[in-house]
Amino acid sequence: MNFDYESLLKKAMEKIPKNKENKKRFQIPQINSQIEGNKTSIRNFLEISSKIRRNPSQLSKYFAKEFAVPVSIKGNTLILQKKNSRETLQNKFEDYIKNFVYCKVCNEPDTILDKEDRILFIKCDACGAKTATKKI
Ligand SMILES: [Zn+2]
Repeated sequence: MNFDYESLLKKAMEKIPKNKENKKRFQIPQINSQIEGNKTSIRNFLEISSKIRRNPSQLSKYFAKEFAVPVSIKGNTLILQKKNSRETLQNKFEDYIKNFVYCKVCNEPDTILDKEDRILFIKCDACGAKTATKKI
């Protein structure tokens, strides 16, 4: 039997859809945090907000609500009035991305949040879908 492995491999590679490669482009930003006394600072807060295309004050409200503590933004940093490990913050942040960033229809992260008649919608730039989401 004549078996040309290389040309079979090449054919298989060509069959991989292009948008699978696009999905790999988005990487979940990593939180850079530090505990200072009884507070925790997220030092790259503005950067992680812009990577997921969210307003920093909107994202800060989410952290305030999830941890039930006051928060404040100072320069590039979000300060939480509570000690939290980086892992805890990262997990909450990834929950936010799952619930408020990824499109519910096509699963792309190219979305914006929009409030209409007190309902929060995720609007997708990739497929045009508009889906209601829970309140922050
Ligand atoms: Zn979509």
